[in-house]
Amino acid sequence: MQQNPHMHPVSRRTFFALGAAVALAACSGDDTTPASTAPADGEPSTTSPGDPASTSTSPPTTIDTGPELADDPFILGVSSGDPDATSVVLWTRLVAASDPLPDEVPVVWELSEDESFASIVATGTAIAKAAHGHSVHAVAELDRPLLYRFRSGGHTSPTGRCRPAGPTDELRIASASCQHFETGFYAAYRDMAEWGPDLVLHLGDFIYEYGGGAEVAEGRVRTHGSPEIVTLDDYRDRYALYLGDADLRSARAACPWAVIWDDHEVENNYAGIIPEKPEEAADFPARRAAAYQAWWEHMPVRMDAPVDGALTIHRRIDWGDLATIVLIDGRQYRSDQACGDAVLDFSPPCDEVADESRSMLGDDQEDWFAEQMRAASGTWTVIGQQTVMSSLSPGGGAILNYDQWDGYPAARRRLFDAVRSAERDPVVVITGDIHLAGVGRLVDDDGTAVGTEFVTTSISSRANVPEGSESLLALFPDVLAIEAQHRGYTRHTIRRDAWEADFRIVDDVLRADSTVGSWQRFVLERGATEPVASEP
Ligand code: FE
Ligand code: CA
Repeated sequence: MQQNPHMHPVSRRTFFALGAAVALAACSGDDTTPASTAPADGEPSTTSPGDPASTSTSPPTTIDTGPELADDPFILGVSSGDPDATSVVLWTRLVAASDPLPDEVPVVWELSEDESFASIVATGTAIAKAAHGHSVHAVAELDRPLLYRFRSGGHTSPTGRCRPAGPTDELRIASASCQHFETGFYAAYRDMAEWGPDLVLHLGDFIYEYGGGAEVAEGRVRTHGSPEIVTLDDYRDRYALYLGDADLRSARAACPWAVIWDDHEVENNYAGIIPEKPEEAADFPARRAAAYQAWWEHMPVRMDAPVDGALTIHRRIDWGDLATIVLIDGRQYRSDQACGDAVLDFSPPCDEVADESRSMLGDDQEDWFAEQMRAASGTWTVIGQQTVMSSLSPGGGAILNYDQWDGYPAARRRLFDAVRSAERDPVVVITGDIHLAGVGRLVDDDGTAVGTEFVTTSISSRANVPEGSESLLALFPDVLAIEAQHRGYTRHTIRRDAWEADFRIVDDVLRADSTVGSWQRFVLERGATEPVASEP
């Protein structure tokens, strides 16, 4: 784990990259000391808000919010995440513009039914510690949708909306991925916040690690403003840069999020502890550890900080008895990509690809996944994951992208076996990664349909396939529909009898005020293996 006990109070890079409004978002005085609020043990920080006797009406001003801080520490916004039936994680991260923050800063969180916070339903105090980048992951108990905010050092954070994953007959999930900062604005997030889903499922590529251009150039609307990121400070600065975007902050505050990572939170197409470029192998464990630490610090996740550069992010969210949502990690434990990690290669695959021992999830997670399939009890079994699982192949054994499940056929067979042996309705897999919107068929080797895959397009990252290639890709046997030239996200409305996926697309990603519309809506009847297209 990279530690920086005496870093600069503010990163000049981030200062200049962001411009005035969010110029002060960089980390400051971040260093190392252990645990703030421990969300993982689920210890409630307050009495149950559902119990009228616990309702507090004492004026907020009586709460000690710690020593005065010169600058607003809440410019990275707020978020909530990983809801269960009775609680949710409340997230923020304090940053300072000038004076370094103390090693430990008390942060008060408050739940309320109204915007004015005149009446506080529940409150608690977390300690934001330098070792955790002054992030807060506080578990708050609640029994209904509520508003939340933080207060510290005489400052009050923006207000967010949170909710538990309680019993319901309708669940609305927005799925998102791939939000390269330079190649577009976040109109998709503005539209998402307006929709007001119950949950945002983020499937990875929340940041990109690449160095930025010196100037905004053709097709780039803003710049990373720094070289490729490597250290913990670099990664923190990059998250702060992305969170400088008001549309992203508003979506983060709109409802709870469930977040998993893909490759770019660390480095393009890394596999386990193997970097993209073999010559960087020696330094990669430290780089990955820094990246995982920064990811954890910035995400509203119900887990303890990484230990020794490892972080378990596969987990399950039960939304009443309507949906069992299983989130998996196809990056941290995977075998290296086969056959030199070729992309758009139509030649027959090398022998390595068929090796039974190659894994996408690693042995432990594979066992865990099979257990979750057996334990799933929701009407819908949902798998949130990184790379395309349907065969994105013209057939005849060609593998067009060795980074996807096509490049891990034995692992995919084992995953399908786990799904099939649970003897439940077909699953719904929600995927990101390839910067296109699509619907895929999940079919086992013997031709049995296992489920449906909804691939959400990128929020802002550029198309990976050339214009006009959709008609060719749509001929692939397991591709039901595809739209590759627009950015956006997907609205999933899940009811007992049917699942509706509405693919939202941004008209012009180079404009922050772009309109956002629908490409296509698909309806999947419960128990069916293929959705049917309907009018947008
Ligand atoms: Fe991406
Ligand atoms: Ca990716």
